[in-house]
Amino acid sequence: MPLQSIIKRTLGIKRHGVKEIKEETEGMTVILENRKGWRLPCRHCGTLGKVRDRLKPRRWRHVPLWGISVTMVYAPARVRCPHCQKGDVEKIPWAQGKCHLTVGLIDVLARWAKWLAWEVVAKIFQVAWNTVATAVRQAVTYGLKHRELGSILCIGIDELSRKKGQVYITNVYDLEESRLIWSGEGRSRETLQVFFQEHGNALKDQVIGVGCDMWEPYMEMIREGFPQATLVLDKFHISFGIYCRRWIK
Ligand SMILES: [Zn+2]
Repeated sequence: MPLQSIIKRTLGIKRHGVKEIKEETEGMTVILENRKGWRLPCRHCGTLGKVRDRLKPRRWRHVPLWGISVTMVYAPARVRCPHCQKGDVEKIPWAQGKCHLTVGLIDVLARWAKWLAWEVVAKIFQVAWNTVATAVRQAVTYGLKHRELGSILCIGIDELSRKKGQVYITNVYDLEESRLIWSGEGRSRETLQVFFQEHGNALKDQVIGVGCDMWEPYMEMIREGFPQATLVLDKFHISFGIYCRRWIK
């Protein structure tokens, strides 16, 4: 299979193609273009519209091929949408918002980050630890947008640290399904407050238990956000999720 076909398949593109592949010291740079004369989808409603003009080229980091780092370069088009009656940037199939990673790389990093320490994932894929953190955040954001949170009963709150405890990430899990549902930088009351601002209303009437370490800023915020929930202080609070599941059954 030619390299162009592999790239197109991993990006999931039909209306775009590979214009040029440049071999550079730091890896491979792939210049993309849209097919001439083809209409492109509006990012608001998906209706196909004519290309009006172009923005400056943007760069996205993609999944490394055979250990070689791969960067995509493309000048996004602005399309005139016949439905919305306005001109805006096309819906780019490999991009998620303004993130500098392709959807393919976000997916790969976030999947591996479920099973391995994030610094190990970073080493395997030759990216910075922050890139793995960004991928996990993007995957969680996407997951939350497309997933029903209505069934969550027990959540776990935990922190990850790096650089000898100088940098923290707070993670919130659905304990029954063992899945990450939110991630934010820091481990303060304010960090967790963002979670409650985003999802507190949707979850406050249904969460019956919260497991976390004995960390006062978290505990304060949990008592405030989910006053009806039982707070379980347990370093290994994943067992709390198993307990909940048995209890409910
Ligand atoms: Zn539209």
